[in-house]
Amino acid sequence: MLKIAYSPIYTYPLPPGHRFPMAKYELVAEQLLYEGTVSEENFFSPDLLKKETALLAHTEAYWNKLNTLSLSEREERAIGFPVGERFVLRGRHIAQGTIQCALFALQHGVAMNVAGGTHHAYADHGEGYCCFNDQAIAAAYLLRHGLARQILIVDLDVHQGNGTAHIFRHEPRVFTFSMHGARNYPLRKERSDLDIDLPDGMEDGPYLALLRNTLPRLVDEVQPDFVFYQSGVDILETDRLGRLRISREGCRQRDRFVLELCRQHQIPIAVSMGGGYSPRLSDIVEAHANTFRTAQEVFF
Ligand SMILES: [Zn+2]
Repeated sequence: MLKIAYSPIYTYPLPPGHRFPMAKYELVAEQLLYEGTVSEENFFSPDLLKKETALLAHTEAYWNKLNTLSLSEREERAIGFPVGERFVLRGRHIAQGTIQCALFALQHGVAMNVAGGTHHAYADHGEGYCCFNDQAIAAAYLLRHGLARQILIVDLDVHQGNGTAHIFRHEPRVFTFSMHGARNYPLRKERSDLDIDLPDGMEDGPYLALLRNTLPRLVDEVQPDFVFYQSGVDILETDRLGRLRISREGCRQRDRFVLELCRQHQIPIAVSMGGGYSPRLSDIVEAHANTFRTAQEVFF
């Protein structure tokens, strides 16, 4: 069964005029239920991330600052959300959701989080709407508990997975792959194990060809026994921040390619949703919903 991490706490009330499409989490879950792609039993409500688990990827100083709400103004501004108690709890549930997804993926082949992919979070600070790095924590968790030997992180959000790349820069058991807009945030990029910088305006054909030429080779070389996939939909042509010109269908084919490859190679895969900033909320929700629909089709 496709297990999906979701909780109402994923929706964090934002000040009026805030640009982040916070409503998408609830809408994606509702849409999947409404159309019958999943039923209530597919969903689980994640537990709360513990400090000792967070410290597998984050510094104690940063953890303490978040949990005592004592970030500096500058640190809070870098994150981009008002950092209150509920925001930190939200982040802890989301990150734990990705860990639990990883455990479900070991059983069922795939599991998905209706949030996460917070790849701009570093060990010691957050930025770009990210406070805890869910996939980094979950990857470190699998290694620590002997549940994976070699992990591949496939980050196809339009923004580079800078925090993830930095956290694992000295960890050979986690291979970080990021394919992202060359001219997009973050302007100062980290070095992933493999970075592919995409030119502005890239369309479906060349984008998918690049992915198809790269990912199977990577799977052969890295020989992962676990994959984390960051499936951001800010590659869409409708995206306000993306700078690429990928259609919704192209985005769906991207997801299908990643999921089918893992299925073929019998590599468990945990998916976190990542970003999406199309002005019309329905464009974001539809593209994210496609990732879940595709997982159902490919695996079940
Ligand atoms: Zn993004």
